[in-house]
Amino acid sequence: MNYFNKKTVEDIDVLGKKVLLRCDFNVPIDENGNIEDTKRIDESLKTIRYLLLNNAKLIIVSHLGRPKGEYNVKYSLKPVAEYLSKVLGMEVRLSRDVVGEDTKKIVKSLKNGEVVLLENVRFCKGEEKNDPEFSEKLASLADVYINDAFGTVHRAHSSTAGVAKYLPSACGFLIKKEIEVMGKAMNDPKRPFIAILGGAKVSDKIGVINNLIDKVDTLIVGGGMAYTFMNALGYSIGNSICETDKLDLAVDIMAKAKEKSVKFIIPIDNKVGKEYKPDTEIKIVNSDSIPEDYMGLDIGPKTEELFSQALEGAGTIVWNGPMGVFEWKNFESGTLAVAKAVAKSGAVSIIGGGDSAAAIEKLGFSSKMTHISTGGGASLEFLEGRELPGLEVIDNK
Ligand code: AMP
Repeated sequence: MNYFNKKTVEDIDVLGKKVLLRCDFNVPIDENGNIEDTKRIDESLKTIRYLLLNNAKLIIVSHLGRPKGEYNVKYSLKPVAEYLSKVLGMEVRLSRDVVGEDTKKIVKSLKNGEVVLLENVRFCKGEEKNDPEFSEKLASLADVYINDAFGTVHRAHSSTAGVAKYLPSACGFLIKKEIEVMGKAMNDPKRPFIAILGGAKVSDKIGVINNLIDKVDTLIVGGGMAYTFMNALGYSIGNSICETDKLDLAVDIMAKAKEKSVKFIIPIDNKVGKEYKPDTEIKIVNSDSIPEDYMGLDIGPKTEELFSQALEGAGTIVWNGPMGVFEWKNFESGTLAVAKAVAKSGAVSIIGGGDSAAAIEKLGFSSKMTHISTGGGASLEFLEGRELPGLEVIDNK
C-alpha cells in the first residue's frame, strides 16, 4: 500500500477558503484541566501556521478521549484552545458545539487568517458511526478538507473519512511525512532492511510480521513475544508470557523466514524475574535454561550484543515494541541497548508509535531516530500494509 500520490496541503488552493482541518488533539489532561503533554498539538502547528499564513479561514476539528457521543466537560477541548491561543499568539475561539448554531455563527464571522476550534467531535453520536448525515453537516461548514491527524487515519469516522466525500481534500504536513518515510521503507527501503519487533504479544503483531517478512533482510524478535517463539522451538520458558494458541503460527513464521532467506534472530539469553514486579529477584540465564519458577522480563546481555551487532550497517530499521518491561528500571537495559545500536547504525530508523515511541522518549533517544510515528494503531496498520480509511479518501494528485 502506498499513498505517495495523495494531494497535500501545498497542492490545494486555500486562500480565503473555509478549511476544515482534522487534527489529533487527543492529549492527556489532568483533573485540574492542565495538558500533561502537548506533543500532539505541537506537531500539528506546522500545518496550522501554513494555513493561517496562506489566509485560510481555519476550522479545526478533533476528538479527545472517549465521551461516547454526548457532552462531558471532562473531555472539552477548552484547554487545547487556550494552549493554541498562547502558542499561535492569537485568539483561538472554541465553539460550544460541533455542527450547531454556535459553530455556524462563528464560522460565518471568520476572516481570512482567523481560526476556530470546534468542540470535541466525539460529543456527537454520528462521528464514530461515520454517519453520512453528520459527515455532510460537518462538510457543509467548509470549502476544503485537510486531514493531519495521522493517529486516527485507521478509523473510518465522519471527521477522518466520511467528510471527504463532500469536499476537495488533501493531507497536512504531518501525514505527508508519515507517508513519505514509512511508505519509502515499505516500498523501496535502503538495505539491509531490518525489523525489530517486541512488546507483549505475538497476536498484536501478526499482521506486521506477515507483511514485513516479505520485505526485510533480518527480523529480530525480543520482548514478551519472543517467548512464544522459544516455546515453539521446544525451550522451557518457565512462567514467561506465552500465547500457547500461537505456537503453530510461530513455527510457520520461522519456516517462512527460512524459505525467504530472512535472518531470524531471537534472544539467546534473558533477564528473568521470580515475579512480575519491578524489584523482583533477578537472574541472567540462557534461553535453554530458564528456571521453571521464573519469567523472562528483558533480553540478556549476550542478546544485547547479538542484536546490536545485527543492526550494524543497517540501511533501514523499523522498530515496534520494547525488548522488555522497560517501564521498570531493572528491565529497561535491553530496550536501551537496542536504542543505542539503532542510533549508532546510521540507518533510516522508524519507530512505530504507542509503546515503542514512549520507550524511546523515556530513554532519551527521540532525537536520534529518523522518524517516530505519531500514530500507535495507525502506524501498526500502515506496517501491516492495510488500507487506511482516512488516507484512502484523500484526493489523488
Ligand atoms: P506492545 O504494546 O505490544 O508494544 O507491548 C508493550 C508492553 O510489553 C510494555 O508495556 C512492556 O512492559 C511489555 N513487555 C515487554 N516485554 C515483556 C515481557 N518479557 N514480559 C511481559 N511484558 C513485556
